[in-house]
Amino acid sequence: MRKQIAAANWKMNLTLSQASDLLDEVLSKPRTLGKDQWVVFGVPFPYLPMAVEKIRGRANTAIAAQNCYTKKSGAYTGEVSVEMLKSVGVTHVIVGHSERREYFGESNAMLAEKLNLALESGLTPIFCCGEPLSIREAETQNAFVEKQLKESLYHLSSEQLLKIVIAYEPIWAIGTGKTASSAQAQEIQAYLRSALASQYGNEIANQVSILYGGSVKANNAVELFGCADVDGGLVGGASLNGVEFGAIIDGLKK
Ligand code: PEP
Repeated sequence: MRKQIAAANWKMNLTLSQASDLLDEVLSKPRTLGKDQWVVFGVPFPYLPMAVEKIRGRANTAIAAQNCYTKKSGAYTGEVSVEMLKSVGVTHVIVGHSERREYFGESNAMLAEKLNLALESGLTPIFCCGEPLSIREAETQNAFVEKQLKESLYHLSSEQLLKIVIAYEPIWAIGTGKTASSAQAQEIQAYLRSALASQYGNEIANQVSILYGGSVKANNAVELFGCADVDGGLVGGASLNGVEFGAIIDGLKK
């Protein structure tokens, strides 16, 4: 089975002590993850070493940064490189979240550079894609998201693609409380997998985990994650509540 992943994206929330308490709360609940089930915490940069320490020795649990820069090192004040992330024990990095695309002007081409660097350094990128409401209303979401994949991913080899996790996140569903229905999520995620299959072949496409993100909550996770092409979720708001995120983890496919 493909990896089934519950990934938290805390965004720019929580103080250090709140972040530490939240991790303790989620990690202290007895829970055995199946061999293909993973939990990833996407935490703000300053808390990465603390979070890495807390999960040390835990099976199938990882820490992600929420971003990285397009250059290896140098005079880029305020930016954080993939090597820096690696050096503090981070294993995953979220790349291309729609908030980064919208507020920080990240283009598909820039994201391709970030993916290259992340893969080169051995980090697992969680690559976000998804359409705005106007595109969904025009019913052109498949072509829109396929273009995002094409321009950021299709230069990668099959071997590299297998090291990436994709998160489909319709922008109209992020932080709005509006979730894509499970039928909508399944339809486009199956389409994206078929697009990957045209490029890389079925065998490769069938091994890529595609998460759904957009107002995932404890009360809709089981239905969304039950879809054949939904391999877990990238969770914003609900990941800030330990009980809620715990229930989302428990909703992963077995
Ligand atoms: C996200 O930040 O990736 C996200 C999906 O947020 P929310 O779950 O709050 O919609």
